[in-house]
Amino acid sequence: MKLLREMIVKDGKIYDNNVLKVDSFLNHQIDACLMQKMAEVFYKYFKEEEITKILTIEASGIAPAIMVANLFKVPMIFAKKSKPSTLKGEDVFTAEVHSYTKNKTNTVVVSNKFITKTDKVLIIDDFLANGQATLGLIEIAEKSGADVIGVGILVEKSFQDGRKLLEEKNINICSLCRIKSLENNEVKFDIADDEK
Ligand code: 5GP
Repeated sequence: MKLLREMIVKDGKIYDNNVLKVDSFLNHQIDACLMQKMAEVFYKYFKEEEITKILTIEASGIAPAIMVANLFKVPMIFAKKSKPSTLKGEDVFTAEVHSYTKNKTNTVVVSNKFITKTDKVLIIDDFLANGQATLGLIEIAEKSGADVIGVGILVEKSFQDGRKLLEEKNINICSLCRIKSLENNEVKFDIADDEK
């Protein structure tokens, strides 16, 4: 998506040749207009599928996911990074997710009330790096018996393993921006899935 690439070049900051900071428009301060436009691209890409739920993980996935859910007119569910007291005693689906940026492993949780074997799930997240967050969400969907229809990603770091791991599972991936390198303080892009 051209607009997202332009925003990254203009406002993104690169750290250690492999981390992209986009907190002025994507995951701290949020450009709602850009989010809406990105959600429209996901909608166009997946609209032939009978999506029944949008699934993401807190916190940064929530903003894009809710906009996509609004277009599909289906509920959005976000996996919680710890089991809150309000879910104590309830049955939940869980997966272990290691965070690349925080170097921490969380047991992420979704109540089994909100995802069932009749669901067709579209997973949305802000970044795809090593794929751990997305694979955790796929594991949760699989534990519920739901079908994973696809994965929509705002920013894919194609030089990390995430995409390869999802392709090995035959997942349909739509990354709006694919970064092939962040070396020498410069962003180099690959062709995005919505432009193929
Ligand atoms: P993965 O599980 O694919 O390794 O990483 C996905 C998660 O890590 C995303 O949800 C995102 O929060 C975070 N992440 C990974 N790489 C980056 C990065 O370069 N910049 C930012 N801002 N977040 C990242």
